[in-house]
Amino acid sequence: MKLTKLLALGLVVGIAGWWWLGPVLNGPGADPDTTPAAPVPADPAALAAPTRAAPAAMASSAAPAAPLTLAPAAAPAHPADGSALLLPVQGITAAQLQDTFTDARSEGRVHDAIDILAPAGTPVLAVADGTIEKLFNSDRGGLTVYQFEPGGRYCYYYAHLERYADGLAEKQTVTRGQVIGYVGSTGNASPAAPHLHFEIHTLGPEKHWWEGASLNPYPVLRGEQRLP
Ligand SMILES: [Zn+2]
Repeated sequence: MKLTKLLALGLVVGIAGWWWLGPVLNGPGADPDTTPAAPVPADPAALAAPTRAAPAAMASSAAPAAPLTLAPAAAPAHPADGSALLLPVQGITAAQLQDTFTDARSEGRVHDAIDILAPAGTPVLAVADGTIEKLFNSDRGGLTVYQFEPGGRYCYYYAHLERYADGLAEKQTVTRGQVIGYVGSTGNASPAAPHLHFEIHTLGPEKHWWEGASLNPYPVLRGEQRLP
């Protein structure tokens, strides 16, 4: 009789202590890589076992702490959500990008773009949903695509394409990740270094595809900066 009371008291104290200390031990300051609390309540074996009362009670008492540990850990781990721009060259990762925005060009020009090197023929992907505003063949850019963002604030410019995707046409709607062309070296790009030249323009009220202030795509493509 007394022994069972003692055991019950010990269990209550133990659970209370766990509940009390849980948020302290696994609070927002905890290292996200070593947080062990989340998998415990999710383990169906521990919750389902009818004979193991204590672990089940501890597991369920730990549940309120889980949102505290998950919320701050998830935010920095996934900076690029659905609203971030996709990398426009298939198979290229953010770590491979180089910031070429302020590189000097001929005739005193500044680059105002990012060059992404890749083998000729590598698929070029739409960075976001939008509309193909203009397909243009220019001396410098070679085969180019001007894509408008649905909000009409930004234009995405892809240059030096080897060719367009089959059937690509002006005023066509494209979706994020859709193949719009292939990496090449048309225009003034060196045939020895095929690459995608990619720019982001802020469109003016007239929404002219050929004019607009350039934004540096580098931090945007790396998920470090949102379009303003
Ligand atoms: Zn370039």
